[in-house]
Amino acid sequence: SGAAVAELVAGRVLDVPDFPKPGIMFKDLMPLFADGAVFREVVDGIVAHHGRESFDVVVGIEARGFVVAAAIAYATGVGVVPVRKAGKLPRATHSASYALEYGEATLEVHQDAFTAGHRVLVVDDVLATGGTAEATLDLVERAGGTVAGFTVLMELAFLGGRERLAPRPVHALLTV
Ligand code: AMP
Repeated sequence: SGAAVAELVAGRVLDVPDFPKPGIMFKDLMPLFADGAVFREVVDGIVAHHGRESFDVVVGIEARGFVVAAAIAYATGVGVVPVRKAGKLPRATHSASYALEYGEATLEVHQDAFTAGHRVLVVDDVLATGGTAEATLDLVERAGGTVAGFTVLMELAFLGGRERLAPRPVHALLTV
């Protein structure tokens, strides 16, 4: 059930204070990825929530989103597309920049990444302010995909990411 999967996430996250800088409580989900049984339950929980017929391709956001997106893609028999930090993709890209607390970040996707009209499930590990997700959803649409959903393992609700992405649907296995 959804509650059982939420418990699995809650039980495997490690809180790391002051990483990557003072004042940030980093939610480290790598212990979850490293536990094969739990990782499988979590991936199956995401697929069950969305339904395997609801998307044609999965996007993973660099870097921890890649881990989850690839597993969802393999489990459902669809392909996986990376959204990467600037300068990493070898061919023509669309790029989207967004404000960080200090400075700016840029994400990119290959211009030919999607078949027109394909429904895209976008995956990341943690939703915080929503800036990363907003830029990624924009890139998916500019590259010709249709956003089927945005899904994360954990949502930090007090940072308002869900409201920032509205009305696009957000799914989180665990909201804190
Ligand atoms: P944001 O753009 O603020 O929603 O930040 C989301 C992105 O940064 C995701 O790719 C997360 O992996 C990462 N991130 C932001 N805040 C945290 C946090 N407290 N713990 C773990 N990852 C985070």
